[in-house]
Amino acid sequence: MSISFSIGKKDKKTRARAGIVKTPHGSFQTPAFVTVGTLATVRALSSQDLLDLGVEVALANTYHLHFRPGEEVVKKMGGLHKFMNFNKPLFTDSGGFQAFSLGFGMEHGTGKIGGFFPDEGFTKPQPEKKWAHVDDNGVHFKNPITGDKVHLTPQLSMKIQHDLGADMILAFDECTSPLHDYDYTKKALERTNKWEKECVLYHKKSKSKQALIGITQGGVFKDLREESTKIVNELGFEGFAIGGNLGDKSKTQMHDVLDWTIPLLDRGKFVHLLGIGVVEDIFNSVERGIDTFDCVTPTRLARHGYLFLTPKAGGSRENKYRMSIKNKENKESKKPIDSSCSCSTCKTYSRAYLRHLFLANELTYFRLASIHNLHFFLELMRNIRNSINDGKFLRLKKEWVGN
Ligand SMILES: [Zn+2]
Repeated sequence: MSISFSIGKKDKKTRARAGIVKTPHGSFQTPAFVTVGTLATVRALSSQDLLDLGVEVALANTYHLHFRPGEEVVKKMGGLHKFMNFNKPLFTDSGGFQAFSLGFGMEHGTGKIGGFFPDEGFTKPQPEKKWAHVDDNGVHFKNPITGDKVHLTPQLSMKIQHDLGADMILAFDECTSPLHDYDYTKKALERTNKWEKECVLYHKKSKSKQALIGITQGGVFKDLREESTKIVNELGFEGFAIGGNLGDKSKTQMHDVLDWTIPLLDRGKFVHLLGIGVVEDIFNSVERGIDTFDCVTPTRLARHGYLFLTPKAGGSRENKYRMSIKNKENKESKKPIDSSCSCSTCKTYSRAYLRHLFLANELTYFRLASIHNLHFFLELMRNIRNSINDGKFLRLKKEWVGN
């Protein structure tokens, strides 16, 4: 075992728990928000900014790094930690999600690359074009930079992730679209089961010291989720991730999937939920037993002018805990974004100044806004951990999201 997970405190009324994951590059406390640094950087921020903010763990994307700068370059530079000079626990994902997103995202108008967020470009479905196709050995797609053909397989995903050198690496799976039906999802799960076994074999042979994390899939179908969980449990992974674009589904479906899956997993290992960044979803997932999350939400929304607010500063479910810096009421506002926030942006700058920087498209805005939004999520997780340790998790949840 290259990492260890110990549970410090379990909530008496829910499946929430507070713990610590130890890795060769230090430890992080759970529940944790895993900051996303797609290209070995959190956009607009330096590694020192991340340390100053108290980021304990981050995730880089295999798909993007494979194309730019290429895993060989990262390996020659001593691996991701040295390359980005960030000596803290790191995850990489399998690269599959982005490759599949190219396929179903472009076909259905969903998926991260095909416009996961409505304000991010492509949202129009293009079913006439096949952007990626799957066979039993992996996924075929085109290199988005050069146009060359790529065949991403479980073995290639493992090889890239070994070269990148993160502490925790993800098994290669087929991430299905929320729009796939039962028959397709079942077929995809059969491939995922086969691929995860191949990842385990390849990883064992390589003698890599990285922790391999298994992924459960199965869409929104109870029997498929149960089957996936059973298989993943048996493969000897060091932690688990729950996949399947759940952030895109209705809340009830997401809760159902978590309720079917988590009680069946080996609870001595940590469980990661992929791609969740909505405040209510974080509370609801922690309540159901999730230990870690990752999402680009804080920095992506910062760049689009949305700044997060705690309930004290007017954040609520209705306004999604955020405001637009563009709002006219900020034009001459001397207030910080959030008076109760202790981040360096709120301690130093007014809303009026940030609004001016945003409207002038000044680069400084991106840094200052990203600092605040990331601080918001890190602080939220700190409060959640404290509430679990103090036996007050449901009370904190009520303060934030009501009943
Ligand atoms: Zn702030």
